[in-house]
Amino acid sequence: MNKLTPKAAFRKLAAIYDKMVARYDEVAQPIGMSCEGCTDNCCLSFFQHHTYVEWAYMWEGLNKLPADRLETIREKAREYVDQAQAALARGERPHLMCPLNIDEKQGVCGLYEHRLMICRMHGVPNMLIRNTGQEIRFPGCYRCQELTEGMDPVPTVDRTPLYRDLVMLEMQFVGKNLRMLPKVDHTIAEMIVLGPPRLK
Ligand code: SF4
Ligand code: SF4
Repeated sequence: MNKLTPKAAFRKLAAIYDKMVARYDEVAQPIGMSCEGCTDNCCLSFFQHHTYVEWAYMWEGLNKLPADRLETIREKAREYVDQAQAALARGERPHLMCPLNIDEKQGVCGLYEHRLMICRMHGVPNMLIRNTGQEIRFPGCYRCQELTEGMDPVPTVDRTPLYRDLVMLEMQFVGKNLRMLPKVDHTIAEMIVLGPPRLK
C-alpha cells in the first residue's frame, strides 16, 4: 500500500468528515435534533481518540492559529491533563472542558473544521460493527435520547463504513511503521501537550 503525503491524507480525512456530517444531518433531521439552547455541553465529556491521522490533522489546524492563542490552548491542555489525572486517581470520571472550547456556555469549538470523529458523532444515535462482528450502539446525547423515546425504529447512523475508511486512511498515512508504533489512546488535551505525532 502506498504511503500518502500528509496533504493528500488530510484531504481524504476532510472528505470522510464531510460524509460524517452528512450522515449526522440525515439522522438529526427526522429526530428533530438540534443543539440550540442546550444546557449541557458535550465538550465536557471525557473520551479518547485513536488515530494518528486525526491527531496530525488537529495539529495542522492548531499550527494555523496565532502564537498567543496556541500558547493559551497549550496552557489549558496542561491544566486539563493534571486535573484529569487527579480525578482518575480519586476513582472519578473527569468532567472537564476541552481545551479547544472557546465558549463554555455555548459549547463553541475553537477548531471546528479540524474537530475529531467522536466530536462529530456524539449527538445522534450511531452504531458500529467491529471486524470481530461485535456490534456497538451509542444512543446519542441526553437530548437525543429524550427525543427518540418511543421511536421505532430509531434513526441511527451506521458508522461502520466511515470507520473502515478511517482505518484504511490511517494505514495509508502512517505506512509500514503503524504496527511498531504505540497505540493511540489520548484525550485531545494529551494530544496537545504531546505535540504533533511522531511517526518514526
Ligand atoms: S475538539 Fe471541539 S467539538 Fe471536540 S470536544 Fe473539543 S471543543 Fe468540543
Ligand atoms: S450534541 Fe447534545 S449534549 Fe451536545 S450540545 Fe448538542 S444537544 Fe447538547
